Amino acid sequence: MAAPNTLQQAIRHFSKFENCKALMDELRWPDGVVRCPRCGSEKVSFLEKARVWKCYAKHERPKFSLKVGTIFEDSPIPLAKWLPAAWMLAACKNGMSSYELGRALGVTQKTAWFMFHRIRKAMQSGTFMKQLSGEVEVDETFIGGKARNMHVAQRKRRITGTGGTDKTAVMGMVQRGGEIRTCVVPDRKKSTLCAVVENNVQAGS
Ligand SMILES: [Zn+2]
Repeated sequence: MAAPNTLQQAIRHFSKFENCKALMDELRWPDGVVRCPRCGSEKVSFLEKARVWKCYAKHERPKFSLKVGTIFEDSPIPLAKWLPAAWMLAACKNGMSSYELGRALGVTQKTAWFMFHRIRKAMQSGTFMKQLSGEVEVDETFIGGKARNMHVAQRKRRITGTGGTDKTAVMGMVQRGGEIRTCVVPDRKKSTLCAVVENNVQAGS
């Protein structure tokens, strides 16, 4: 389906659940692998009727909606209204008043203002994922094969140094009793890691 060109088209586009889901999947899992926000498991399936994901690992609240973990989570506003507003902010350089947006979406000016505010903040931080809060644990490590487990030829090709060389640095963040988040980082420098924490964790946590 063609990308919308006007707010009216965006509203029509996102009135279809499949279109909301397609965009949310892309925002949340850019690599295309859907992971449970609570345990990180990839063993999940989408329940078409209930319109929620279900995780097959055994833990509490195994079902999660498209909104869980995103900036849209703690609001009763449906994605069919959130996403046209986000589209509007991304596409329209001249901006739009909260009065106009409110009228177009059928929400009050106050609600439209709140939506714009929250979306702008997300765009500035570069992610639509909600920040972790409370007690958050952060750690980083290198992943990649162990040299001693490799065939000689492979070892020669793949291992060109010691320590973290030739391995991928990854970082994990977990909110106590809540969501888990992982990402690949370019290096383990303090400035790199701190920037990731700043984007993903609420100040004061
Ligand atoms: Zn899970």
